[in-house]
Amino acid sequence: MLRVSQVMVDENTGKVQGVALVDGTELHSSVVLSNATPYKTFVDLVPANTLPEEFLCAIKTADYSSATTKINVAVNALPQFRCCKNINPEGGPEHMGTIHIGSESMEEIDIAYKEAAGGFSSTRPVIEMTIPSVLDKTISPPGQHVINLFVQYTPYKLSEGSWQDPAVRKSFAERCFSLIDEYAPHFSSSVIGYDMLTPPDLEREFGLTGGNIFHGAMGLDSLFLMRPAKGWSDYRTPVKGLYLCGSGAHPGGGVMGAPGRNAAAVVLDDLKAR
Ligand SMILES: Cc1cc2nc3c(=O)[nH]c(=O)nc-3n(C[C@H](O)[C@H](O)[C@H](O)COP(=O)(O)OP(=O)(O)OC[C@H]3O[C@@H](n4cnc5c(N)ncnc54)[C@H](O)[C@@H]3O)c2cc1C
Repeated sequence: MLRVSQVMVDENTGKVQGVALVDGTELHSSVVLSNATPYKTFVDLVPANTLPEEFLCAIKTADYSSATTKINVAVNALPQFRCCKNINPEGGPEHMGTIHIGSESMEEIDIAYKEAAGGFSSTRPVIEMTIPSVLDKTISPPGQHVINLFVQYTPYKLSEGSWQDPAVRKSFAERCFSLIDEYAPHFSSSVIGYDMLTPPDLEREFGLTGGNIFHGAMGLDSLFLMRPAKGWSDYRTPVKGLYLCGSGAHPGGGVMGAPGRNAAAVVLDDLKAR
């Protein structure tokens, strides 16, 4: 990937000039669209002292908290769910949708959430499972499968221990696998490998500030005219020629492309008006 180290801005005119890559390459352009998070874009990539204090303060104080962990698992057998009468070793309809594990009641979800709010990963996490290899046989060897677990809730910063500690990571992954065992016996013993992305990992790997999958909270105080900051919800930014086109812009996160589509329309309008 070509990683951007800086958005280049003309000191005199305040206009964007392009981007500099980490390898030193400079790409010059009078228009730059960023789908990195607002924090990454304006705090890490735009040079300091370029932005109005009020705008920068709004970006810095936005809520990027998150409690999502992704575990990508390789297994040598499909989970067979106790609730299903038929055994489908090759994959049945029960393997083809999003499978919810745990979260049997609102109370259980509430407890799981409150544990994370207190700095502890949930004792009984809320797990969404998908098995893409049931539908696409090309992504795993015959007889083996890829399973994605979307897991909540895991605080960015743990009250005890650290996500950098392999023992902490292993313990949490095994807690998730044990919970799945309750619904699909022997799941744990079918695991032949896994990769876990906690909130700090999502931040490091994909630039997701705080590990927040939506580039910032999606509460009423950070949507519509408030996204990414009051007065700046039209994709333009205080840097002329720099546009925000990702989930940190209206209408927010989700697999939909709407911020990008809307930002492109604004860029075209501005180019026509030049
Ligand atoms: C684990 C997970 C599960 C999700 N599940 C769902 C779901 O079920 N349903 C749903 O609707 N949405 C879901 N989402 C959210 C959805 O994927 C995002 O809202 C959407 O992909 C955001 O698209 P985007 O283009 O705004 O940003 P992103 O897809 O985050 O793209 C930003 C890009 O910028 C790159 N980048 C960052 N910094 C730099 C840099 N310095 N130089 C170059 N590139 C950089 C990153 O690598 C990344 O590729 C999920 C997200 C995650 C992480």
